[in-house]
Amino acid sequence: MMSQPISSSLRILKSRLFEMNSGAFVHGREAYLVDPGIFPDEIDRLVTDIGQPTAIKGIIITHSHWDHILGPERLPGVPVIAHPYAAASLANDTAEVSRTVHERLAAEGSPRETQYVAPRVDIIADNGMELPLGNRTLQLLHAPGHCADQLVIYDASERVLWAADMLSDFEIPFVDDVRAYRQTIERLRTLDIDALVPGHGNPTSDKSEIEERLAWDHKYLVRLEEEVTASVHARHTLAHTQHALADWPLRRPDINAREHLRNIETVYRALSRPS
Ligand SMILES: [Zn+2]
Repeated sequence: MMSQPISSSLRILKSRLFEMNSGAFVHGREAYLVDPGIFPDEIDRLVTDIGQPTAIKGIIITHSHWDHILGPERLPGVPVIAHPYAAASLANDTAEVSRTVHERLAAEGSPRETQYVAPRVDIIADNGMELPLGNRTLQLLHAPGHCADQLVIYDASERVLWAADMLSDFEIPFVDDVRAYRQTIERLRTLDIDALVPGHGNPTSDKSEIEERLAWDHKYLVRLEEEVTASVHARHTLAHTQHALADWPLRRPDINAREHLRNIETVYRALSRPS
């Protein structure tokens, strides 16, 4: 297990679990880490690979889902950077976040021996915040849709996009808010991207593959929004809607078929909610 260079400043390391990517943006003797983890040895490996002595200026948490927030406890004293909604949910739902981490790690066969405590966010990253790193700045952009508190990272100097939990080569979009997700993808399509790192799966520097991932996810989200809306307006039941829309072509149906049904349910319930 070694970290892999993506640009002159970015290295990534893929976790044993969920192909989750952790990153280190490094310039000279300064670095920012992104979603370090999931396991302690992976966090240690990432820190070792960026070389010493390097001052880690911050840990960027792209969003508050449990698999992305395990790094800070391994690196005490390093400021944690996240969207204001993530800061709020990590502060307000501490017990639930902690329970989720314990349950999920146990379910994956790696039960924790010590109590997990959710990190406190030290630096609130509103949309458009810029982190200076050597000769460049890392832009943090609010990217809701997979969840409300998600950030992506854009390094305009080398046109690198850290896409958080989007634009995977093996997952379909996991939807929390379909409209927000579609609009986020539309905003990302206006960026000039030479290298893409998804939160889960393989990075790519192939322009046509980057285009293709953006186009596929956008098309999926548009169709999901349109067809579930039509089904709700036709007063079809959720079960009917799921059955009618189950057979879409998906990447990796073995892992995504269930998530696709969950997406239909999420959109259906949001539309059915009395406003
Ligand atoms: Zn996530």
